[in-house]
Amino acid sequence: MSRPFNFSAGPAAIAEEVLREAAADMLDWHGSGMGVMEMSHRGPEFGAIYQQTQSDLRELLAIPAQFKILFMQGGGLAENAIVPMNLSARTAAPGARGTADFVVTGSWSQKSLQEATKYCNAQLAASSAPNGHTSLPEPASWQLSSKASYVQVCTNETIHGVEFHTLPDLAALGCNAPLVIDFSSHVASRPVDWSRVGLAFGGAQKNLGPAGLTLVVAREDLLGHALPICPSAFDYKIVADNQSMFNTPPTYSIYIAGLVFQWLKRQGGMAAMEARNIAKATLLYEAIDQSQLYYNKVDPHCRSRMNVPFYLRDERLNDAFLAGAKARGLLQLKGHKSVGGMRASIYNAMPLAGVQALVDYLHDFEKTGG
Ligand SMILES: *Cc1c(COP(=O)(O)O)cnc(C)c1O
Repeated sequence: MSRPFNFSAGPAAIAEEVLREAAADMLDWHGSGMGVMEMSHRGPEFGAIYQQTQSDLRELLAIPAQFKILFMQGGGLAENAIVPMNLSARTAAPGARGTADFVVTGSWSQKSLQEATKYCNAQLAASSAPNGHTSLPEPASWQLSSKASYVQVCTNETIHGVEFHTLPDLAALGCNAPLVIDFSSHVASRPVDWSRVGLAFGGAQKNLGPAGLTLVVAREDLLGHALPICPSAFDYKIVADNQSMFNTPPTYSIYIAGLVFQWLKRQGGMAAMEARNIAKATLLYEAIDQSQLYYNKVDPHCRSRMNVPFYLRDERLNDAFLAGAKARGLLQLKGHKSVGGMRASIYNAMPLAGVQALVDYLHDFEKTGG
C-alpha cells in the first residue's frame, strides 16, 4: 500500500524509508532497551547518534572545518533575533548599536529585517516588494552599508517561491561583511558554496526532519561577540563550546535528521539531489507554463526548486481543484494564506513520481474538471 504524495510546505514529508527505520527503533534502539526519546542526551547511546549525525551532515554539505555545526531550537523565527544578538555588535564600537543589512525578497526576509530592528540598526539594502517579490534585486544594485556587521538574505522564499540559484558574492561587490543566509526551506537540496557564507540557519521541518531542531552553521571567527542581553542558551559561542549540549537539545529530532542524512547519502549526496530537484521543478514549471488554466508569477531565472506557488486563472475552481487532488492522494496543495492560490512544495522527500502524479492531475483537471 503506497502512501499519498504530501506537498506540505512544512512540517513536510519525510522519506518513507526513514519513517520505517524510526518505527522499527521506536521501542528499542539497537538493542539498548530504550527508545531514542528516552535516552539521556549525555549517555553513550545518544552520544553515538549525535556524533554520527554531525559527521554525516559535515560530509553531505561539505562543511569546512572552520565552521561550527550547532543544533539549536526556536526555528527560523528565533534565529531572526538570535543572529543580531550574536553578530550585530561584532564590528561596532564597544557599547554602540550595531548595523546589519537586509535584502528583502519575500515574507521571510521581511520578518528577519523587522525582528532585527529590536537589536541593531537594520537597514534595507534592496527589496523586490515593488514587483510583488517575483524577481530578485541584482546584487550590483544593493545599497550595502560600510558599517554593516553582516548582510542577511533568505536564499529560498518559501511563500513567494523565489530562490537564489547561486549565492551572492559579497566580496565581488566590495563588501567584506559576512553573508548570513536563511536556508530553512532549501537546505540540503543542493551543494552550498561555503566560501561565500559566514553563517547559515534553518529550521529542520522543511527538508531535514521534524520540527524542533534548528540547524546553525557558523564560521568560528564570528562567534564570541554576543550582546550582554543574549540568553546563554542562544549564545553561539556557549552552544559551540558545549557541543550543542549547554541545554538539552531536541534529541529525537536530531536522531530523525540523522536518519535523513544517511538516506541522502544513499541517494548519492548533494550533487545527485540537486539534479533530481532540478528535474522535478522543471517538469512542474513546464506543465504550469504550458497550460491555459494555471500560472506562476516568478521570473524563470529565480524560481524556487522547492516551493512552487501557482494560481488558477478562475479562482472559483480552487475548492474543486483541492478536493479532486485530495481524492487522488495529492495532499496539502493549498497556498499560504497571505498569497492565496496553490503551492506545491517538492522537497527532497518528494519523488519524481509524485511530481508526475501532480502534473497528470493538473492536466486532467484542466481538461475535464477532475
Ligand atoms: C519556515 C520558515 C521560517 C520559520 O521557521 P519557524 O521554524 O516557524 O520559526 C523561516 N524562514 C524560512 C525561509 C522558512 O521557510
